[in-house]
Amino acid sequence: MLTPVARVQRVAMISVHTSPLAMLGRKDAGGLNVYVRELARQLECSRVMVDIFTRRYDDKTPEIVRISAGIRVISVDAGAPEPVSKDDLFCLLPEFASEVALFSLREGIRYDVVHSHYWLSGWVANLLKRYWNAPSVHMFHTLAHLKNLVSDDKNHESTLRVQIERRLLEVLDNIVAPNPDERAELIWTLGANNARICTIPPGIDLNRFQPRDRDEARLKLELPDNPLVLFVGRIDPIKGIDTLLKAFRDLQTKDWGDRPPKLVFIGGSMIEHSDGTMTPGADLMPVVEQARTMGIADNIIFRGAQPQDLLPDYYAAATVCAVTSLYESFGLVAVEAMACGLPVVATRVGGMKFTVEEDVSGLLVPSGDHQGIADALATVIADRPFRSTLQVGARQAAIRFSWHTVGSAVLNLYERLADGERDNLCCYGEIYAS
Ligand code: UDP
Repeated sequence: MLTPVARVQRVAMISVHTSPLAMLGRKDAGGLNVYVRELARQLECSRVMVDIFTRRYDDKTPEIVRISAGIRVISVDAGAPEPVSKDDLFCLLPEFASEVALFSLREGIRYDVVHSHYWLSGWVANLLKRYWNAPSVHMFHTLAHLKNLVSDDKNHESTLRVQIERRLLEVLDNIVAPNPDERAELIWTLGANNARICTIPPGIDLNRFQPRDRDEARLKLELPDNPLVLFVGRIDPIKGIDTLLKAFRDLQTKDWGDRPPKLVFIGGSMIEHSDGTMTPGADLMPVVEQARTMGIADNIIFRGAQPQDLLPDYYAAATVCAVTSLYESFGLVAVEAMACGLPVVATRVGGMKFTVEEDVSGLLVPSGDHQGIADALATVIADRPFRSTLQVGARQAAIRFSWHTVGSAVLNLYERLADGERDNLCCYGEIYAS
């Protein structure tokens, strides 16, 4: 008897503006990169081969980097091999798309599914899906419309982006929304066809992110024995760093005796000097300056971007994780912290409304409410029995988001698309409800 051929054998992931090889925690490298890498790993476990196409931003990276037997990162020439701001990438997209098509021609391969990430890649996917006659799945990761609702004028996303995001909703086969609110927003505000939108959250590597011994972690990371508030994120206005600093200032005004809370700040660049000392890089400097002006710099430990392998130690060492974003389509950091048994104080925005359970795994506070965040942090730090309850609840709440569950949902979606189905393919909103 012949073994049936798997319907999805090869997937093209399109991530034009940022590479899974980039250092996380720097400007444009965060949750999207982690998602692409981890999903590729899950698909590989199901014997699906994945090629991740990204724009070449230096001339050192080889064209093909094999990150494991079934996963390759392909650096595509489009424009000069140097960093280009996201805002200037649009005119390079036609070149990017034709180079990807040429690559597949040279290799003699086609793809069963095109999965694109961020609006720039969605534009490319719309060309490539026709070239390979393959169905497309798209994830926005952030929506300009939602970002603009919470950003000041100087950080507004372009009209071009807003228009293209609307157009992608019409031309791509399936859109994956990371949380039920974003699905509703796509349908009710942006006019998307509800039959073409799935809700599938990103996943968490529960083997990497699990509870560890606090004291050992502090020793290893050379962190003091004070209450530690942890922040992990890119240096981007959307992360609400301004609110975080104000909240931390408010927290300092409470009576902590001789052991005031310290803020451990992960993200941004640090420069290593010849004598081994580290100082904040250009992106981090405004944060340091603001902390100095507010008189709280001495209680902030800036560590810069950290490899993800080290984050479980930071989550273990901390007393509470603060996620103060103005907008967060999912918020991997909050769920990673929870998976490590670390209570979270988060703003009630985007995915965190669904991942952080009030009084079970953390506390939710309105976005921008620095006094409310300070009060919530103080409660978690000072009320030990409450903190212990949250520690247990946090790990349990995170288990819903295992990559095993999420990866199966995505693969199921691919298979149904490859079978020619288009409407009402799945709605994994129940991952949130369970
Ligand atoms: N991250 C990291 N090192 C850092 C900062 C962040 O590995 O220094 C990772 C973090 O573990 C998480 C991701 O980057 O997986 C950030 O994802 P999140 O959804 O929180 O934010 P985004 O970057 O998507 O806005």
